[in-house]
Amino acid sequence: MKNIYFISLLLTTTLNTMAQQKIVQTAGRTQLGEFAPEFAHLNDDILFGEVWSRNDLLSLRDRSLVTLTALISQGITDSSLSYHLQEAKKNGITRTEIAEIITHIAFYAGWPKAWAAFNQAKNIWSDDVTSDDAKAIFQKSMIFPIGEPNTAYAKYFIGNSYLAPISAAQVKFVNVTFEPRCRNNWHIHKATQGGGQMLVGVAGRGWYQEEGKEAVEILPGTVIHIPANVKHWHGAAADSWFAHLAFEIEGDNTANEWLEPVNDEQYDRLPCRK
Ligand code: MN
Repeated sequence: MKNIYFISLLLTTTLNTMAQQKIVQTAGRTQLGEFAPEFAHLNDDILFGEVWSRNDLLSLRDRSLVTLTALISQGITDSSLSYHLQEAKKNGITRTEIAEIITHIAFYAGWPKAWAAFNQAKNIWSDDVTSDDAKAIFQKSMIFPIGEPNTAYAKYFIGNSYLAPISAAQVKFVNVTFEPRCRNNWHIHKATQGGGQMLVGVAGRGWYQEEGKEAVEILPGTVIHIPANVKHWHGAAADSWFAHLAFEIEGDNTANEWLEPVNDEQYDRLPCRK
């Protein structure tokens, strides 16, 4: 394990992320070729030339994950860790994933080690998409507009949501967009006859939950029929923007009753991935 630590300190060239392609590493010979030629050879030709290059057996992304786990578990939080965090990002580990990875490691390797790793990771992933960029990217994945900030109902939502009226005649409906983790409060579409609400997933990934039942995943094309007088909430997954069409079903004496928020404790019990 110590060798992995010392070897990892020597890495200065970029890993080649092309599948099946041998990685060319020169850091060993550049830095230690004269002093420790055998070590330089092992670093450049074996560790990188062979082990890291066997991406037909294990992807670079997975190798990054294993390497980070080994480094953080040993409490190695110097430039070696920052190098491997940067490589992990190049190898496709996202901002959301690295936060989850380090959180997971924390329980097995120790809390202060996770803190130290987070202090580096947050800087390395800091230039990732801003919220505005992410919204623009999400819009490109969706045929309906995101519309305007949902200010009228903001007090009944956690996080930012957006409303776009799509049809104002015959069957009226709106497109509702939720940023990641955004969800509406528990609520009831009340009616004495008819009523209720229908949702149709449009883009991204979200959730619908009725009180006392498991949450149901909503993907593009998923249709959700919400009966009148049933307590429920809907919103985005933690790691995805989400949009659904919302149809308010006609009925007698219809009214919406807004209740308590879906707090983080409830929300974080939802599975992160399907
Ligand atoms: Mn509803």
